[in-house]
Amino acid sequence: MANGILVVVTPSRGALSPSSYELLGAGKVLADALKQPLLAAVIGGNAAALAGDIAARGASKVLVVEHPSLKDFTEESYARAAAAAAAKADASRVILPSTIAGRALAARLAVLLKAGLATDVTEILADGKVRRGYYGGNLIAEVEFKSPVAVLTVAAMTFPRAEPAGAAAPVEAVSFDPGASVSEFVSFQGEESREIDLGAAEKVVAGGAGLGSADGFKPLFDLAHALGAAVGASRRAVDSGWIPYKHQVGLTGRTVRPKLYVAVGISGQIQHLAGMAASGTIVAINSDKDCPLMQMASIAVVGEYSELLPLITAEIKARKGHAVPA
Ligand SMILES: Cc1cc2nc3c(=O)[nH]c(=O)nc-3n(C[C@H](O)[C@H](O)[C@H](O)COP(=O)(O)OP(=O)(O)OC[C@H]3O[C@@H](n4cnc5c(N)ncnc54)[C@H](O)[C@@H]3O)c2cc1C
Repeated sequence: MANGILVVVTPSRGALSPSSYELLGAGKVLADALKQPLLAAVIGGNAAALAGDIAARGASKVLVVEHPSLKDFTEESYARAAAAAAAKADASRVILPSTIAGRALAARLAVLLKAGLATDVTEILADGKVRRGYYGGNLIAEVEFKSPVAVLTVAAMTFPRAEPAGAAAPVEAVSFDPGASVSEFVSFQGEESREIDLGAAEKVVAGGAGLGSADGFKPLFDLAHALGAAVGASRRAVDSGWIPYKHQVGLTGRTVRPKLYVAVGISGQIQHLAGMAASGTIVAINSDKDCPLMQMASIAVVGEYSELLPLITAEIKARKGHAVPA
């Protein structure tokens, strides 16, 4: 009987992303629920060099699958590498991120392991069942695995990041045969953007229908730049064509968990809250003091955004200008 929870960490461009630590956070919840040991596997061309960081964050053992063929991500070779690690770990559950690559990998891995599969998991219950949304989140399903082995992908920003704690876990290399592939890595073309990534941002400034137009986002971007924050948006602002979808926060957008979330002209419907309610300090700026976001905010500022934002931005710039360098 398989007995182990395996978190699979796949570095991006040779480096770990903070979401790797969220996988470990989810793995710990599942390991506690099923009373099974938590293991991690790091897969990549330089996996051994990254294993130490993972080993310090609560797993009982870290498996390393390193091979030149794993330098760049291809679904086939990474799925085989993850399957080798799952066999070594004797894993009953394998956890991957709900990224495009993570989901593609999960599907192949589930086939290789003859495992059940649940993607976009947002909650792990005390009995090991998991919850995930269907139909844009209008239905939340509870999933119970009947198969001895199951693969799950967990949604970003829904589980706490595992912090370094206690002694480092032992690290063990896993041998891996890359075999023949029908696909090959050709090139990586990163998005050319100087914007801060919403998913990993510590500060987010988000705008909604209250901004009234695409022009209304200009003072919002100014505030975000002054704060060093990423820009988010409500679905109504996105649907109105004022800002691209990649900025949408909520049930059908990104989930964020920044230390500071500033919501401007956003009423706070449940579908928006689903993407940001776990933020640290929530500041709402809105002309309606009774709307849901103003009610739940740590700081609620009543007023007209076009008057308030330039004042706040100017004040932040002034304070930063006068700050004594550390
Ligand atoms: C299946 C489904 C999925 C969805 N997914 C998402 C999602 O992922 N994300 C999301 O955001 N929504 C989502 N929605 C939509 C959601 O229900 C709301 O319609 C949406 O969040 C409302 O956006 P809003 O707060 O910007 O607009 P509104 O609800 O219209 O609120 C606008 C706010 O601006 C304030 N305001 C107006 N003028 C000013 C001003 N001059 N200065 C300051 N404040 C002002 C108003 O008082 C009001 O509170 C989803 C809905 C469904 C059915």
